[in-house]
Amino acid sequence: MLPAHGYPELKKYPQLKGNFGTAWQNQKKEFDNIPAPILFTTNCLMPPKTSYADRVYTTSVVGFPEIKHINTNADGSKDFSAIIEQAKQLGGYSQDTLIPGINGGASVMTGFAHGTVLGVADTVIDAVKSGAIRQFFLVGGCDGAKPGRNYFTEFVKQSPSDTVILTLACGKFRFNDLNIGEIGGLPRIMDMGQCNDAYSAIMVAVALAEAFDCGVNDLPLTLVLSWYEQKAVAILLTLLSLGIHNILLGPSLPAFISPAILDFLVKNFSIMPISTPEADLAKILG
Ligand code: SF4
Repeated sequence: MLPAHGYPELKKYPQLKGNFGTAWQNQKKEFDNIPAPILFTTNCLMPPKTSYADRVYTTSVVGFPEIKHINTNADGSKDFSAIIEQAKQLGGYSQDTLIPGINGGASVMTGFAHGTVLGVADTVIDAVKSGAIRQFFLVGGCDGAKPGRNYFTEFVKQSPSDTVILTLACGKFRFNDLNIGEIGGLPRIMDMGQCNDAYSAIMVAVALAEAFDCGVNDLPLTLVLSWYEQKAVAILLTLLSLGIHNILLGPSLPAFISPAILDFLVKNFSIMPISTPEADLAKILG
């Protein structure tokens, strides 16, 4: 729900109060006891547990056997009355409830899609030219439960104070509530949204390249992607087809990357498997 706070058409509703939940692999734990129904509009739905399956609804491209689906009517409208009625019956929490690790227990800033970032393009460009910003890192991608994914949290924690972290997708929930300060009024962590918003990151990179009259690969920008076998496949292939080089990828490599394909990607796209945050930051920042 977090990116919704950055979408004007959702933000205008006063009943949209906050974010609940983190990455996809935590659904079964996070949805178990909340006194509310859940509507899946896009992205990754885990097979619902029987303890909350009667509170799950899907719409649009998401669906699951025996889960209530809200269809689009011929006139384009949708009938959400069943989920609204259930929300009223369940009643929600009786008081403000902050659950650290689930709904944060903290404030985070979101909404740095390309329109917002490019709205302060002059400030960003001046900060780069003056040296106040040395490097951008796009740290994002899918999250997962296997060990090794704390690399991305450590990478952000250890990033120097003259660097900016752009982030998106489930992987961001590992570090988006870190307070790592600002540069010239710009927060050092800029949350661009969900995995679908990879488009925004590309738009920002293209606009910065135009502003600096260089190619995207010549920008002080490194993509550090957390991999999982889901939409990240399409996003990685998009980045490669756009000719983006020097992508750091981890904690494991995609299943389709055989030794021969890895060799090709290293030679032609300079893809690098992650190592340690210390070593990778030293290598990137020289
Ligand atoms: S970031 Fe990956 S895991 Fe998360 S919703 Fe998107 S595709 Fe699914």
